[in-house]
Amino acid sequence: MNYILFGPPGAGKGTQAKKIVEKYGIVHLSTGDMFREAKKSDEKISALMAAGQLIPDETVVEMVQKRLQKDDVKDVKKGFLLDGFPRTLNQAEALDGMLKKENIKIDAVLSIYIDNDEAVKRISGRRVCVCGASYHVLFLPPKQENVCDACGGTLVQRTDDKENVVRDRLTVYENQTKPLIDYYKKAGILVEIDGQQNEKEVFKQIETAIKAEAGKLGS
Ligand code: ADP
Ligand code: ADP
Ligand code: ZN
Repeated sequence: MNYILFGPPGAGKGTQAKKIVEKYGIVHLSTGDMFREAKKSDEKISALMAAGQLIPDETVVEMVQKRLQKDDVKDVKKGFLLDGFPRTLNQAEALDGMLKKENIKIDAVLSIYIDNDEAVKRISGRRVCVCGASYHVLFLPPKQENVCDACGGTLVQRTDDKENVVRDRLTVYENQTKPLIDYYKKAGILVEIDGQQNEKEVFKQIETAIKAEAGKLGS
């Protein structure tokens, strides 16, 4: 099973991805996570991310291509979950090309919808830990303020989660990424998920969608 998790910044992709890979044993491929690692040694990437802009398509596609070739993806026959990719039409077309060559199919694009006000609330309250855990000051607070439940690390706000950058990221989403909804609708693989509900309810919708897909395949 191969899925794409799609949605605006703050939709809950990372949160749901964690639950999906735990339950179904597929590999989580987050381009945001990959670039947060890459920006440590690449000033251009770092500057683009800090400004809320997208990394150029060629760089992104090359990175995803390499990642899909790695053993853990190839060996885990169960499949993968793309999170944060594709984000432009060019990326979507490049992905189609890559998968065609490997004879791999995307079962569904799980498109999580939230409105702009909710996105701003979620992003501005997001706090993250170096271990990868993610919290929200109101919606998912850690047991102790600013301390990671999982590892005891100090929680921080992502630089691109600051209010002034958030608006730019939402505009970038609107202009460059949202058109992909139509692209995948036309391909007949778009599944809409109402992201405005609580974490559990959102996950239930995702489970239902995955079950329906598995049913179609007769597995
Ligand atoms: P969010 O889900 O909160 O929007 P991500 O963690 O997915 O954020 O991405 C953070 C940043 O990493 C983006 O704002 C962008 O600069 C870069 N990035 C991640 N994925 C892509 C992509 N597919 N194409 C271009 N840039 C990307
Ligand atoms: P994305 O990866 O799409 O940018 P995240 O999964 O990081 O989004 O979620 C953004 C913020 O919203 C995080 O602080 C997270 O704890 C919180 N969050 C995620 N899902 C929900 C939900 N269903 N209701 C309320 N807050 C949520
Ligand atoms: Zn931690």
